[in-house]
Amino acid sequence: MFFESRVYEIIEKDNTQEVVNYLKSDDWQSYQAVGCKNKNGDLVLAVPDGHIDSPIDELAIVNQTQHRQIESLTWGWLKDDECLRYIEDCFNSDINMGKAYVASKPSEIVNQMFICGCCGEDFLSDGEYQERFDQDAGYGICPDCEDNY
Ligand SMILES: [Zn+2]
Repeated sequence: MFFESRVYEIIEKDNTQEVVNYLKSDDWQSYQAVGCKNKNGDLVLAVPDGHIDSPIDELAIVNQTQHRQIESLTWGWLKDDECLRYIEDCFNSDINMGKAYVASKPSEIVNQMFICGCCGEDFLSDGEYQERFDQDAGYGICPDCEDNY
């Protein structure tokens, strides 16, 4: 739930083992969402979602391609030999916890998905362009609703 108000650097790895290796390394930072393609070819991300005191103890697992959260994983409690199994299960899960996607730095991805703060539809836009509408992270104003702002 915290992740929806933050902006992340998205790091894409080749497979779940590499994702786990990165999450367990000292390189992983609380502003980085790390993921890979799942069995269906969707990009799935493990996103730090804990309280500011310990953001990486809790992970939101987000299917970035389908714009929905799959799972919430208490990463900090997992034993070393459980990490890969849990990540694989989560990444390939069909559970739908509702609409979600990870907002990334505008400089790295020009076109990203936004949810329109007016009509609620998903749309593609430029993060820098959307800043003028002053919406919460993940939200913007779609072209159809722009005239209202
Ligand atoms: Zn709209």
